[in-house]
Amino acid sequence: MKKITHFFLISLLFLLVISCAENSAKSAENNDLPPENPKIGLAIHGGAGTIKRENMTPEREKAYREKLQESLEAGYAVLEKGGSSTDAVIAAVKVMEDSPFFNAGHGAVFTNEGKNELDAAIMEGASKNAGAVASITNVKNPITLAHAVMNNSPHVFMVGGGAEKFAMEQNLEIVDPAYFRDEQRYEQLLKIIDTEKQQLDHSSQLELELQDPYFKDRKFGTVGAVAVDMEGNVAAATSTGGMTNKRYGRVGDVPIIGAGTYADNATCAVSATGHGEYFIRTVVGHEIAAQMKYLDKSLKDAADDVVMKQLVEIEGEGGIIAIDKYGNIAMPFNSEGMYRGYMYEKGKGKTFIYKDEDEKL
Ligand code: ASP
Repeated sequence: MKKITHFFLISLLFLLVISCAENSAKSAENNDLPPENPKIGLAIHGGAGTIKRENMTPEREKAYREKLQESLEAGYAVLEKGGSSTDAVIAAVKVMEDSPFFNAGHGAVFTNEGKNELDAAIMEGASKNAGAVASITNVKNPITLAHAVMNNSPHVFMVGGGAEKFAMEQNLEIVDPAYFRDEQRYEQLLKIIDTEKQQLDHSSQLELELQDPYFKDRKFGTVGAVAVDMEGNVAAATSTGGMTNKRYGRVGDVPIIGAGTYADNATCAVSATGHGEYFIRTVVGHEIAAQMKYLDKSLKDAADDVVMKQLVEIEGEGGIIAIDKYGNIAMPFNSEGMYRGYMYEKGKGKTFIYKDEDEKL
């Protein structure tokens, strides 16, 4: 009997050692970002686009980096206390929704009719629960409404007036639509509306891009966060004003589960930013997860294939952030730059803006 128990214990120990070795191999797999077996991790983005050093002042750059850092700290504080990845991504996204620097919440871009219409989504990888909202005009933090849809309604996706009614029932903070207005954003709309007029005058797209400062500084300022918590659960959250000059009823990729936002513990959590129409057609988030699941690709290889190949082939500009349960992070983008950052350790967040920055730890 004693022998059998010994044999059993030794086998158990052996299995444990094998599984630990496998986990640490996975965590270092094809990726330089995670430290050895990170317990928790968080990545954020504040939009991708034509973000170049020459179009940025040192003050502006500093202000952006500080806000990204603040968002990282907010999300990390939740994870560090043993909070869920869901609560962490909400905390990180709210910081950016409240800042006029990003195209989400206060500071969102304008529709063709001069309004701000907001989309947001959240998904958690353990349960594959999700909540999404579109065309919201008066909820201060649309990500909190997406969260309420996920947790407190039988639905996944709610839009417009109905979603706003639900927000009131849920006692979420309601604001006057004027709260979202930022003058610089409004000027962007005026420029692009003028540009369209010029387009009708048969100017070529390239000529317009060279002349127009709006195009020189074109960016998709959507915000997003992905995280893994102490339980090994991943989550993703994304929030946006969509695209400047969007037409009535237009909804982008952000609230489309599987396109701009996706999470599954078996693979990864993804949050995207870019030209939404292309991201919907490529089903970006789910495509990355599917390549990991069915082709056994690493997070990095799957994300690179989708962003640097599939999207490029159809001229879909933008990028993504993604994390898996081992803490591997991927942040590929095919535009000039992407506001982004990650954090594995308290106070040691790293933020990036341009293409040529070294993302390694
Ligand atoms: N993806 C967003 C949309 O198409 C735009 C962005 O990333 O800024 O609505």
